Amino acid sequence: MSDLREMMKDKKRIVIKIGSSSLQHAETGDLDYTKLDVLVRELCDLRNQGKDVVLVTSGAIAVGRKAVFIKDEKEDNPIAVKQAYAAVGQARLMMTYQKIFAEYNQVAAQILMTKNTIVDNLNRFNAQNTFAELFKLGVIPIVNENDTVATYEIEIGDNDTLSAIVASLVKADLLILLSDIDGLYTDDPRKNPDAQYIEVVEKLTDDLMEMGKTSTGSDSGTGGMNTKLQAAKIAGSTGVDMIIANSKDIKVIHRLLSGQKIGTLFLADPDENFDLPLYVQQMHRE
Ligand code: GLU
Repeated sequence: MSDLREMMKDKKRIVIKIGSSSLQHAETGDLDYTKLDVLVRELCDLRNQGKDVVLVTSGAIAVGRKAVFIKDEKEDNPIAVKQAYAAVGQARLMMTYQKIFAEYNQVAAQILMTKNTIVDNLNRFNAQNTFAELFKLGVIPIVNENDTVATYEIEIGDNDTLSAIVASLVKADLLILLSDIDGLYTDDPRKNPDAQYIEVVEKLTDDLMEMGKTSTGSDSGTGGMNTKLQAAKIAGSTGVDMIIANSKDIKVIHRLLSGQKIGTLFLADPDENFDLPLYVQQMHRE
């Protein structure tokens, strides 16, 4: 078992996903600059070790909502309002990231995607080329869904899934999902004290996938355990190992990559019949 974790030391291309709730102060919903700073430092240090790094970050809608200060949460419902929040928030979020990355002399880039980026052959090819060039240039791509244009037909809908799609697209060695939970349990630990922690998942069985459907997400993000298991399916089927770990201490990133046994490791289980564009085309938000 520990050999599996030793393998993490050799991971060369890593996609890291952080959710909105991990980036905000729970009390105010404002950005947690201390966490952001540690996150960026960790990523820059991976880059300094010669690894290729991609950050998939949520937060556009949450940051935009804060910026225009609408008290009544009910006003979030119309899609156009969320899209307007995202338009404001994505720019603010990037400004904050760019500032911190610059402090570490690291160049960062922005890539915004929708379902079409994967389903359309030309778009997918272009995106792949862009990632490849950015890696060559030593740049860290920062990815989010293009929430300002992504309505139901073309939206991926949550960044767990988006990060797995990105990991698959760039042929990453490892996907790390940083979340507000320690990993995978046999049941929701917040509701069932007997829930057992699962350290390694070698095979995503139908039972496991079913279990995820009953869990719920956090207040500000879109992902619950269901989307994380969907992400494991996409990543694993395309040969990418995945780890779910708790973001309460962002330094978990370098600990994971030094082989420490933290979080739940989903071992890649490549499926040569898995067709990413077709899978993404057929995805439906529930
Ligand atoms: N793309 C959304 C945002 O940046 C978040 C999606 C998610 O939470 O998974 O606000």
